[in-house]
Amino acid sequence: MLEKIGILGAGESGVGAALLARRHGFEVFVSDSGKVKESFRQELENHGIEFEEGRHSPERFAGVKTVVKSPGIPDAAPFVERLRENGVEVISEIEFAGRCTDATIIGITGSNGKTTTTRLTWHLLKTAGLNAVMGGNVGTSFARNLATEAPADIHVLELSSFQLDGIKSFRPNVAILLNISPDHLDRYGYQMENYVASKFRIAMNQRPEDLFILDAGDPYIREWLEKNAFPSANGPRLLKVSLRNYDKRVLRVGESTFDMQHCPLKGPHNHFNATCAILAAKELGLSDEAIQLGLNSFVNAPHRLEWVAEVNGVTWINDSKATNVDAVRRALESMDRPVVWIAGGTDKGNDYAALMPLVRQNVRALVCLGVDNEKLKSSFGKMLPVEEARSAVEAVRKAAALAKQGDVVLLSPACASFDLFRNYEDRGDQFKAAVKTITAGNGN
Ligand code: ADP
Repeated sequence: MLEKIGILGAGESGVGAALLARRHGFEVFVSDSGKVKESFRQELENHGIEFEEGRHSPERFAGVKTVVKSPGIPDAAPFVERLRENGVEVISEIEFAGRCTDATIIGITGSNGKTTTTRLTWHLLKTAGLNAVMGGNVGTSFARNLATEAPADIHVLELSSFQLDGIKSFRPNVAILLNISPDHLDRYGYQMENYVASKFRIAMNQRPEDLFILDAGDPYIREWLEKNAFPSANGPRLLKVSLRNYDKRVLRVGESTFDMQHCPLKGPHNHFNATCAILAAKELGLSDEAIQLGLNSFVNAPHRLEWVAEVNGVTWINDSKATNVDAVRRALESMDRPVVWIAGGTDKGNDYAALMPLVRQNVRALVCLGVDNEKLKSSFGKMLPVEEARSAVEAVRKAAALAKQGDVVLLSPACASFDLFRNYEDRGDQFKAAVKTITAGNGN
């Protein structure tokens, strides 16, 4: 009889895992406690994969030894706990996919900068002619990328802490840990050390032939390395990166120098991201010339310090993806002109103390874009003019009135978007559309 794999969650990672399991000859059953999206339902039906929705039926899991759990489902979910009690092995889609391939893997995690660094690493490899694909927490799932006719030689994976929680033997040849700052603590018992430990899982199976690139200056990373005497003799080679002497025109990585004038990645944090991507590319044998070509032609994903327009001498920047305080800190550090700052939304327990010096130094005014703006108002109201807006259009109108020639208007919210918008993309898109209306109004 075929081994039967159970899959919890019929989203991108669950359906990817189902396709891969089918390709590898497993019997598969997919179960989603909510409604399955039409495109995923079609796909499962087209491949003759059985599924249920609106519930998890214990009887459908009879005889299942391994369950692949989607990252959105917490470990503490009662059905997951019951499976474990019954001796079922519960793993993540990343673990399952990792067991199905011998391809080279570059795994990238961190609280901020994962997508940027993953995209850049992939772009550098592709530009150099390598057969690489990008996946994981960004775009296509790792499993889906492996379920294709001709899987790539190299997989560049963005990995969230939730995905790392479910790994056992997954082992990237190159791992990157960009930074750690408080995030998602509701899933980690409100214990920062649990979240930090989750991030370090990326390297737990690495061997001496593997490389682990990490931020030498990050206090959470330093503390964890010291406490855990990491790496052990059979652990990976460690490459501790620190960015000294930021110069927006050039980036020095070891003995090499790269021209950053044509690369859209601006600010010290982005040069740090680029350094990590370059080190990974070098590990895979890329020359400095090949890397430079990739840096020159790179295009970042939208909503990350994305230049929108210049209107009457004011520059508009969309950083809607900045949903925590640290991302905003990096955005403000990257600005070399006075800022009208648009922030707000659903607060995830923010502590704005880390922003105070930068705001005092660089921010001219704050426009709060959220349903409940009390915390922002009480934190910054005594330092600078603060206004409120309930829509992107209103925020843009108020910011335009506050900005002076030579200023930057920066949407960098520090908060999730769900109070007024569908998601951070919707917030960024509405912001850009609103900016375009004032651009049109000025004939620019
Ligand atoms: P992630 O995928 O980890 O969310 P992104 O690349 O999508 O990261 O960027 C999310 C936000 O974090 C953006 O506002 C971006 O400007 C900011 N950011 C990017 N790199 C870093 C970094 N190394 N440290 C802090 N913030 C960063």
